Amino acid sequence: MARDLIVIGNWKMYKTSREAADYIEQLLPKIEGNKARVFLAVPFTSIASAAACAKQAKLEIGAQNMNDARDGAFTGEIAALMLKEAGATFVLLGHSERRHIFGESEDLIHRKLARALQDDILPVLCVGETLEEHEAGNMKEVLKRQIESALADVPKEHAGDLILAYEPVWAIGTGKTATPKQAQEAHAFCRECLAEIYGKRKAGQISILYGGSVKPDNAKKLLSEKDIDGVLVGGASLDADTLADIIQHCEGIR
Ligand code: PEP
Repeated sequence: MARDLIVIGNWKMYKTSREAADYIEQLLPKIEGNKARVFLAVPFTSIASAAACAKQAKLEIGAQNMNDARDGAFTGEIAALMLKEAGATFVLLGHSERRHIFGESEDLIHRKLARALQDDILPVLCVGETLEEHEAGNMKEVLKRQIESALADVPKEHAGDLILAYEPVWAIGTGKTATPKQAQEAHAFCRECLAEIYGKRKAGQISILYGGSVKPDNAKKLLSEKDIDGVLVGGASLDADTLADIIQHCEGIR
C-alpha cells in the first residue's frame, strides 16, 4: 500500500487568526488538485478561523502542543478535546522546541501521545538528535530511545495511528539541511524501530516526514528518497507561496 505523501507547515508562534485566514485564502487555489495531504499546525487562537477557511478543502488544521490530561486545574494549558472542538484534527508532539526550550521529557511526550490517541486526535511525533549527539555518532541510539519511549504501551487498536517526523535538531531553523542520503538513512532506521514495535507491515504504512530547513530548492531531492513520505516545514511555511512551491514538488513523486 502506498503511503500518504504529507506536507505539514508549522507556523510556530506566528500569525493571528486574521492573518491565518488571509494565508489560507492565498494558499488554497495554489494547491488545488495536488496529491499531497497538506496540514497546517497553527497557534491555538488561529485554529478555529483556519479550520473554518479550510472547510471542504483538502487542508487539515492542527495544533503545535497539548496537555496530557483530559481536563483539570492546569492554568494556561489546553486539552485535546478543546483542540478538536476548535477544529484541529492533529497535534505536533515532541517538537524539538518543546523538548529543548520548554524542557519536555520523554515521559511527558509519552503521556501526551497516549492522551492524543485516547481523545482521538492524530499525533505527529517529532524525533531527532541534537548537534552534539549527531557529532558523537549517537543518532540511532537517540531516535530509538525517543520512538520507543513515546510509543510504549500504545493499545493494539491504536497501533500505527501516528505520523512520525524526523527532525534533526541541528537542522531546525539553522539553514542546514540533512543531505537526502543522511535523511534517508535516518528514516529507514526510524521505520526499523517502528517495525520492532508494530511489525513490518504496519511500519510500512506509517508516513515518516523530514523536517529541518526544508525550502523549495531542497524539497524535491529529499522527497525522492524512498522512506521520506513528506516534509515538515517551519520557517518556509510562513509564506503561502513558498509552501505552495514545496507542495508542488510532491507531484511526480511515486
Ligand atoms: C520545524 O519547526 O519543525 C522546522 C523544521 O523548522 P524549520 O523548517 O524552520 O527548520
